[in-house]
Amino acid sequence: MDEMPRVLIIEDEEKMSRMLARVLRGEGHIAETAGDGRTGLRRALDDTFDLLIVDWMLPERSGVQVVRGLRAADVHTPVLMLTARGQVEDRVEGLDAGADDYLPKPFALPELLARVRALTRRQGEGTSTEAAIRVGDVTLDPVRHVVRLGDERVDLTAKEFALLATLMQRPGQVFSRSVLLDTVWGVPGEVSTSVVELYVSYLRKKLDRSGEPSHIRTVRGVGYTFEPQP
Ligand code: CA
Repeated sequence: MDEMPRVLIIEDEEKMSRMLARVLRGEGHIAETAGDGRTGLRRALDDTFDLLIVDWMLPERSGVQVVRGLRAADVHTPVLMLTARGQVEDRVEGLDAGADDYLPKPFALPELLARVRALTRRQGEGTSTEAAIRVGDVTLDPVRHVVRLGDERVDLTAKEFALLATLMQRPGQVFSRSVLLDTVWGVPGEVSTSVVELYVSYLRKKLDRSGEPSHIRTVRGVGYTFEPQP
């Protein structure tokens, strides 16, 4: 097996940074964090990482300055840039500075993870581009953002997609409402877990056929699990 990929998260919003680190660790990465641009740049220059996740707006040094500093020092670690700004010029500026990919906030975690996978893979083996997950009659492509039920395309909102992707990445695993809330909505405490129930009901309406068991099983008192149809 390969070594666990090492990721450095340079982000001053502590909640975001902690959440990213937790999610990446859950995916088998070694995740470290830095809270400002200067510390982040120093860590990235002093040590070897497989990926840097760099926020645009940082104290001390901006994300763009961090990336420029790295590239100027001939460090070519892949960089995924995060930003709350959506303008095209910003995106171009970030990519010009040497970022490899760009993700506007707020983002769905499955999308982030798909980009992380693509960037850490680019460094290493460089083959396999398939990213689609298939469980039973449902296929989910996190890169193209497409879900199919059999041959039919299912239209999902961003949150529905993120929720389904989270469940489908670990078929049969039971996720509690609060874990799903944390993973899909990302801001603990600001949204009630009842929103998870609501979105599960939306997904069931779109995916389930009447008279057949639901794709998403409720585990009473625990949470939800995605199950292939028998
Ligand atoms: Ca920031």
